[in-house]
This record gives sequence, C-alpha cells and structure tokens, in this order.
Amino acid sequence: MSNALRREYLAALGLETWVVRGKSQEVPAAPEVLAPRQPLPAGDVIAPRDADAPRDSAAAREAGVDWPELRARVAACTRCALCNTRTQTVFGVGSQTADWLIVGEAPGAEEDRQGEPFVGRAGQLLNSMLHAIGLARERVYIANVLKCRPPGNRDPGPGEAAECLPYLEQQVALLKPKIMLAVGRIAAQNLLRTDVTLGRLRQQVHRFGLSQVPLVVTYHPAYLLRTPTDKRKAWEDLKFARKVCTGV
Ligand code: URA
Repeated sequence: MSNALRREYLAALGLETWVVRGKSQEVPAAPEVLAPRQPLPAGDVIAPRDADAPRDSAAAREAGVDWPELRARVAACTRCALCNTRTQTVFGVGSQTADWLIVGEAPGAEEDRQGEPFVGRAGQLLNSMLHAIGLARERVYIANVLKCRPPGNRDPGPGEAAECLPYLEQQVALLKPKIMLAVGRIAAQNLLRTDVTLGRLRQQVHRFGLSQVPLVVTYHPAYLLRTPTDKRKAWEDLKFARKVCTGV
C-alpha cells in the first residue's frame, strides 16, 4: 500500500497527525507486508482467568463440522427467538485462510438486510481501521457473536449469546486465526465471559475459548463514530494486536 493511501486511511481514523508532548508527529507507517507467523511474545501474555476457562460441552456442539455444513446449520438455526425476527442470518465474511478474525456484537439493520457483517457506516470505519494497519477487508475474516439481528439493535441476551457462540467456536476451529480482535464491550465481554470494563480489557492478550487463540480488545467502530477522540486509543490497540500477531 502506498504511503499516500495509508495516510488517507489514517485520516479517516482521525489519526493523520497527533500532538505528543507539544510536538506534531506523524503516525508511524504500518509495514507494507505483514511478517510471517511468529510465536506470541511471552511477556505480553496474561494468564487466563476463570472467565477465560475453556467452555463447557455446549461449545463443542458444532465440533468437526466443515464450512459448508456450518453455514447451512447457521442459516437454518432456530435455537433462539431471534430466528423469528431476522431477515436472514449473517454468517461471516472474508478469507478462510485469514490470520485475523474480527468479531463484533451482532448484525444491525443493514447487515440483516444484506447478510454480511459490518456493511454500514461502522463497517466503513472498520475497513479504514484495518487498512491503517495494512490489512484489506478481504484478507481478514469478520463475524459477530450473534448471527441474527436483535430487534431494535438491543444488546444480545445471555441466552442468545450462549446458543450462538458454538457457531463462532467452530468458525475459529476451522479458521485457526493467529489473532482475534474483539470490537466493542459487548463482543469482548461475551467472548471472554466477563463483566470487566472495555477500558480494563484493552491492551492485554486474552485467550478465546477451547482453541485459546490470542484475543485483543478494542473499541467498536460505531462507538468511535460517536466518540472520535478515542480513535487514538483504537489505533494503539490495533498496533498492539499487530504486534501480538506478527511480533512487529
Ligand atoms: N455492529 C456489529 O457489531 N456487527 C455488525 O455486523 C455491524 C455492526
């Protein structure tokens, strides 16, 4: 990616330049090419807490299922009442060989209509955030905790998340990502089964579910659209996640 294009994406994030200790500084350029797989830096790993412990047998509900069968099961799912109000399920999108798995909360109105996650304004900002660290949307995989839209965009209920998470567990098992990026408090708290605030979950390496994939938490792009002053913190989180993923 050219520096000019990257500057455009950083500008979309409101990160073209920032002031550090009275000086104006350029945001460090992202690498052109992500480094090959490297082990996670040991010092960055925090010990799993009780809330991160492997899930119970429900998590293995879809174990062994391949991509087409998993997609079909999600499309036909009637495990919670959201099946009555959805237009369609939103399975996930992206490269099935992606190193990065981005996980949001649940489809919104536009995602429910189009059947693809993060296609609205928040999705555009998510694309810019990914580009800012040198990743095209097509190179990552994007999914949600819930595959169906909660009416009125309310938060997912605990029962809904519990019924839906085994689908994500199996997506993770098939994808084997190097890093998961949970965007937003709701996604992070459901994935990590914790009530800890997003502010305290950021800038740490967590582990997800049975696979124990490294997981990093950042702000939801819809929140960043409402609170652009936190985009700088999101940029720090993205760089942190890239370091976990590539060691750079
Ligand atoms: N917000 C989410 O968390 N997921 C989407 O797919 C869209 C908006």
